Amino acid sequence: MSKSVCVYCGSHNGARPEYMAAARHLGQLIAECNLQLIYGGGSVGLMGVLADSVLAEGGRVTGIIPEQLAERELAHRELTQLRVVTGMHSRKALMAELSDAFIAMPGGMGTLEELFEVLTWSQLGLHSKPCGVLNILDYYEYLLGFLDHQVAEGFLNEQQRNQLQVSKDPRHLLELVGFTPAAGVQVDGN
Ligand code: AMP
Repeated sequence: MSKSVCVYCGSHNGARPEYMAAARHLGQLIAECNLQLIYGGGSVGLMGVLADSVLAEGGRVTGIIPEQLAERELAHRELTQLRVVTGMHSRKALMAELSDAFIAMPGGMGTLEELFEVLTWSQLGLHSKPCGVLNILDYYEYLLGFLDHQVAEGFLNEQQRNQLQVSKDPRHLLELVGFTPAAGVQVDGN
């Protein structure tokens, strides 16, 4: 059975064109890997750019959106599947359940909240799926520095810190979270 990757990303495009370009590139690779994209279901910001890119390459996209956000985030109507759920918690739970790995692109508060929820679930041993950030234009530099500060100050285990994969290159990041662009299978054989 083919695998699914969850991508958390901003509901804005970002201030520089490189962010949208990276979303398009990641989308092409997801389709090329024969991975299903799981994402928040909106058509705004990087979310929309990413979903459109996967669809344009003939890939499969499942969007998961709470009913109260379907209007504000302009629920994408062209997806392979759009699942409308009752709230934020069920959205995140379903996104996590359906996915084999998690990637955060640049985004705002929502993206951070979603990333840290899966990281903390991993820390608690509730799942062992890989997580990574796409560090385009060093967007996550300060956040990664803060995680190092947490380690140095004794609030975060170094091994947990290193669970978070980081790359500026979408292809490399997909490999780091276990996918090979050629076959779309996880390299660890899971
Ligand atoms: P942002 O990164 O703030 O642009 O938001 C990216 C996505 O995260 C949007 O689809 C938001 O609806 C979503 N989001 C924001 N807060 C939460 C939350 N607490 N739970 C689930 N999704 C959220």
